[in-house]
Formats: sequence, structure tokens, C-alpha cells
Amino acid sequence: MTNIRTVTVLGTGVLGSQIAFQAAYSGFEVTAYDINAEALEGARERFALLAETYIAEVEGAPKTGGAAEVVSGTSGKAAATLTSLTLSANLAAAVANADLIIEAVPENLDIKRDTYRQLAKLAPAKTIFATNSSSLLPSDMAEFTGRPEKFLAMHFANRIWVHNVAEVMGTPLTDPATVATVMEFATEMGMVPVEIKKEKAGYLMNSLLMPLLGAASNLLVAGIAEPADIDKVWRISMGAPRGPFELFDMIGLMTPYNIGINGPNPEFARYLKEHYIDKGKLGMSTGEGFYKYPKP
Ligand code: NAD
Repeated sequence: MTNIRTVTVLGTGVLGSQIAFQAAYSGFEVTAYDINAEALEGARERFALLAETYIAEVEGAPKTGGAAEVVSGTSGKAAATLTSLTLSANLAAAVANADLIIEAVPENLDIKRDTYRQLAKLAPAKTIFATNSSSLLPSDMAEFTGRPEKFLAMHFANRIWVHNVAEVMGTPLTDPATVATVMEFATEMGMVPVEIKKEKAGYLMNSLLMPLLGAASNLLVAGIAEPADIDKVWRISMGAPRGPFELFDMIGLMTPYNIGINGPNPEFARYLKEHYIDKGKLGMSTGEGFYKYPKP
């Protein structure tokens, strides 16, 4: 068992709210920090939605029966989690007693560095810092933390309660004891931890996923096969639950568009814009992308 009891999550957006809720649901004392009252109002709404989602998806809501039956059939843990969360827009107060800070502020190096500059002064010496950054390397932030030996990346996946893997990745300056503590903490908060031994942009997940999605988009743009057929081959031959274009729809088409247009695959980005984005088809979230949703 680790010594971690109090966890502060910085940023209550898509991922920060999920991390805070999951940690509190797992029994940690959690403070969620965001920049102002308006952002905290958004956080309250996200947490309320998460409580409903946990009741339905984690606490095994019955498949039949109305919402009342769902609630009465569950443990009440999600509802209790909701009331246990502390929300704060005061950074000094939010981190004053934190054993661990998980940072999920916007994916912008200047904002991250500025956050660590402040944390270096405000957090007690015992506090471990973890960044949830998807595309930045922890080495790019380590010097601003004032405690590089207690700093690493802890990367979660969206819909943390289902996709419960945590990729733990230190820098050359991270103390192996910090890595060990965070690995154990990840298990304590219901994650399956995976240690990455050397810094790698994109961690394991995106290092595997990006080449697959890139290959699929090349096949499409070159006119080799239809998306549904490319997916079919991958699903059946690999026993995979989803093919690459089903994954694109899940991720949302704006993300590959934004990555591709100024980067590695402008041709695919233009294809997405012309055939899908300009028609309002952005993937699952809009009810249509490569496929129509709900799928039959
Ligand atoms: P988001 O835009 O949904 O949320 C960011 C939150 O940070 C907002 O609530 C915003 O008010 C707040 N914020 C802004 N400035 C801040 C500051 N200075 N200090 C504290 N909070 C501040 O972003 P997100 O999608 O939750 O991403 C957050 C981090 O998580 C990023 O580093 C991203 O790479 C990473 N991540 C995202 C996903 C994903 O699927 N969205 C998955 C894994 C990791």
C-alpha cells in the first residue's frame, strides 16, 4: 500500500474530471482544481454526469427497468463520491496537503510550465507531481517542477472507468521509487498500470495506434478499398472489436484532421474535410462519420 491518501487533480475538463472522480470513487480524498468559478461550475456538471455514468456502467445497472430501479439496485457509492469531492479555484489551498498532484491542464507547453512553476513554490516537499499530457514529454516540464525526482507522466485514456490503463513514464531524472509508488497507486485507483522504461512520445498506446490509422487512411485515399471493407479485414483476421475507421469515428474526425493538415497526412485531412467534416459528419459524437450511429 502506498502512502498516498490525498490527491489533487488540476484541470477539470474531459480527462481531469474523470481522473478526479475515479480516484475519489476508489477511496482517495480528492480535490479538483480549476481556474475560476465558471470552470468549477462546468466541473460540477461533469461530475454529476459521471456519477450517472458510473451508476449505469460501473455499478451494473439492470438492463431493464427505469432509472429508479437502477439507483436502488446499486451501492450508492457513485452518489457518495459526488459529495466527497472538494472543488477549489485556489491553487495554494488545493495543493497544500496533496500527496499526489495529477495535472490535466490544457495541452499547451506554456500553460503546463507555468503551472509547474507555481506548484514548485506552493506544494509541500512530499508531493509527487504527475502529468497526464498526451503528446508532450515530461522532460519538457521537469526542470520547472523544482523536484524532477518526484515528477513523471501518468497517462490515462478517455472513459477511464472502462479503458482503465495507466501508462507510467518517468524521465531520466525520476527516482525509481517515485515510479514504483505511482504504479502501485494506479492499481489502488482501479487502473491497470504499465511502466514505460524510456521516454517515448505517444506512450505505448499511440505508438501502436498511429501507424495503424495512418496505414488505413493511405489505403482509403489511394482508392484501394472502402472503409467498411478495410475495417472488416482487420476485425475478422485479428479478432479485433473495431477496425481503424470505427476508431476514427470514436476519436472524432476533427482530431485526425488537425493532426494531418499541417503534418504527416494532409491528403487524408483534405479527404476528411471534403467528404465528412464539411457535411457536419464528425464521427460518433454527431451521429455520423464513416458510419451512422447508433449502428445496427
Ligand atoms: P480540456 O480542455 O477538456 O480541459 C482542460 C481544463 O483545464 C479545463 O477545465 C480548463 O478550465 C482547465 N485549465 C485551463 N487553464 C488551466 C490552468 N492554468 N490550471 C488549471 N486548469 C486549467 O482538456 P482535456 O481533454 O481534459 O486534456 C487535459 C490533459 O489531458 C491534456 O494534457 C491532454 O493531453 C490530456 N489527455 C486528454 C485525453 C482526452 O481524450 N481528452 C486523453 C488523455 C490525456
